[in-house]
Amino acid sequence: MPVLRSHLLAVSLSLLLNAAAAAEPAPVRFLLTFDDGPAAAASGNPTVHILETLAHNPLQDNIKAVFFTQTRAWHGGGTDVGRALIKREYDEGHVVALHSATTFHSNHRLMSRQALDESMQNGVDDLVSVTGAAPKLVRPPFWAYDAGTLESYHQHGMQMLLTDLSANDGKIYGVNFSWHKRSNMLTHLAETRKRWAAGAMPVSDGVTPVVVTFHDVNTYTSRHIQEYMEILLDVAHELDVPLAAKPFYDDHDELERAALAASVSDPNTKPRLPGLWNWLWN
Ligand SMILES: [Zn+2]
Repeated sequence: MPVLRSHLLAVSLSLLLNAAAAAEPAPVRFLLTFDDGPAAAASGNPTVHILETLAHNPLQDNIKAVFFTQTRAWHGGGTDVGRALIKREYDEGHVVALHSATTFHSNHRLMSRQALDESMQNGVDDLVSVTGAAPKLVRPPFWAYDAGTLESYHQHGMQMLLTDLSANDGKIYGVNFSWHKRSNMLTHLAETRKRWAAGAMPVSDGVTPVVVTFHDVNTYTSRHIQEYMEILLDVAHELDVPLAAKPFYDDHDELERAALAASVSDPNTKPRLPGLWNWLWN
């Protein structure tokens, strides 16, 4: 009997050790997202440069990203150049999602429910007419939403994706030149690391997606997008965050599954927003 008992003890110990090993959260993969685009410029188009960099760069080729498009932006998605770029994003295997279907960067939370519903339907119709596929993801302008906003998104077949890291590169307040982009990413990833280490982040296909937000209409971002990606790898290394063998997504379906897994559907969830936006939103 003592032999059996010690055997059982050994088995339980090894189970415990396995459980401890399994408790290490899944490695991180950066899920790149771009808001506000596409840009409408006929030449030197920042969206085009970002697409080219994602396709070919020294870090990882054929990176796929989520583009939260503004389908009716007067200087972007609402133009022929813009629509062609949305089509190109889709054809190149990126996930095309919705940001706004209004002429301007309108706040969804301040719209009447009827106006929001119409706008969401317009956005879905716009994207279906350009790509043939309905968007599954939406990101609210200004990160502003409430229970009604979420309900409208869900009724139009979309889930809301917020962000873990932000380059704070939005154009809206003229933050077009980031002197401190590395320290900014470091701060955001350090915060994210705490939730990752606590096992509080969703895992999809064996990796932990960490959502990063840029603005593809921003020419500074566009020119520095490779540097931004290098910074992400660099700060992950500095913070001892283990990265997946492929640190960026390169498969459309895997990317979309990960984005859906990371989406927020409970209006009572307090969003983790980039500092500037948190201040604006509250
Ligand atoms: Zn935006």
